[in-house]
Amino acid sequence: MKKKLLFAALALLLAAVVGLIGYDALTGRTQTTDFFAMDTTVSVRLTGCVKPETAEQIKAMVRHLDTDLLSRTSEGSEIAAVNRAHGGTVGEQTAAWLQTLKELEEISGHAFTADLGALTGLWGIGTENERVPDRDEIQAALAHTKKWSINGRTVTVENGAALDLGAVGKGIACDEINAIVRQTKAKKVIAAVGGSVLLYAKNPKETFRVGIRDPRGEANDYAAVLTVGSCCISTSGSYERVFTAPDGKTYHHIFDPSNGFPAQSGLLSVTVLCDSGLLSDALSTACFVLGCEKSEELLKAYDAKAVFITEENKIITAGDLAGRLEITADQYTLVEESQ
Ligand code: ADP
Ligand code: MG
Repeated sequence: MKKKLLFAALALLLAAVVGLIGYDALTGRTQTTDFFAMDTTVSVRLTGCVKPETAEQIKAMVRHLDTDLLSRTSEGSEIAAVNRAHGGTVGEQTAAWLQTLKELEEISGHAFTADLGALTGLWGIGTENERVPDRDEIQAALAHTKKWSINGRTVTVENGAALDLGAVGKGIACDEINAIVRQTKAKKVIAAVGGSVLLYAKNPKETFRVGIRDPRGEANDYAAVLTVGSCCISTSGSYERVFTAPDGKTYHHIFDPSNGFPAQSGLLSVTVLCDSGLLSDALSTACFVLGCEKSEELLKAYDAKAVFITEENKIITAGDLAGRLEITADQYTLVEESQ
C-alpha cells in the first residue's frame, strides 16, 4: 500500500514537472510572420502560448484596414469613397480615428493635416508621377486642404480636397494588432508596420531595446538605442521616400501644410513614443513639420515622449527619457531636454 502511494506521488510529481516543461516550451515559443501591406513590410514576432491562427488574424486585419478602410488609392475603401463623393457616412471605427485626428489638427496648428491629398497627389512622391510642381500649382492645391469636417459618423470633404491618412495608417495597424494580442496568452509582442512599432510585454517590468535608425546611414544602421517598456513608437524621417529632381535637389514626403513644400524644420528624423499607435504616428509627422522646439507643447498635450535627430547631428530628447537613450553612432551628440 505504501509502495503504491509512493509511486502515485512520484507519478504526480513527474506529471507536474513534465507539465511545467511543456508549459514553458509553449510559452517561450516565438512565431514570426512577415508580409507586405500598407505599401510597406509588416513584421510580427509573437512570444508565448499563441495559436498560429493569431498571426493569420493579424495579417487579415492589417489588409482589411488598408483595403477596406484607410487607403485612398484602394477604390473600395471608406476613405476613397468619401473622397469621391465629397463626404458620406463612415463606420464607427473610422469615425473615431477621424475625430481624434481632427482634434490633433487643431492642437498642432495644422502641422498635421488629414486632407493633404490634393498636395501629396500633386507632388506624387513615391509614385511614378513624382515631380516638383510650380508655385502656382502648389498654391492651387493648398486651397484644397483644411477643407474637411466630421460630425458623428458623417464626413464632409469639399470638392477638390481629399483625405490622405498615409501618415497614420501604420500606427492604427499597431493599435489593432495590440487589441488582438491582448486577447491571447502572448507574453511579448514586437510588431513593426513600416516606421511604426508596437512593443507589448505582459510583464510590466519587462523592457525592450529599440534601435533608432541613423538617418545618414543605411537601413540597418542605428544612431541610438532606446530602452522602453510596452508602448507604440513611430519615426518620421526625411530619408524615407525621397525623390531627386532633375536639378539634383532631393525632396521628401512630409509636407509643411503652411507652404506646400517638404518640411524643413532642421530635423533628419523624429521618433515619438506613447500608448497609442495612431497618436505616435500622427505626432511624429506633426513634430517633423514643427521642429524640435515648437513640438514641446504638442507632445505634452498628448503625454508623449520624443527623440529628435537634427541636421546638426544633435540627438534631443523630450519627455522623461533620461538614462534610457544610448548613442551608438559617433557623429551624434546627446542633448537631454529637462521637462
Ligand atoms: P511614413 O509614411 O514614411 O511612415 P509619415 O508617417 O510621416 O511617414 O507619413 C508621411 C505621409 O503622410 C506622406 O506620404 C503623406 O501621405 C502624408 N503627409 C505628409 N505630410 C503630412 C502632414 N503634414 N500631415 C498629415 N499627413 C501628411
Ligand atoms: Mg506618421
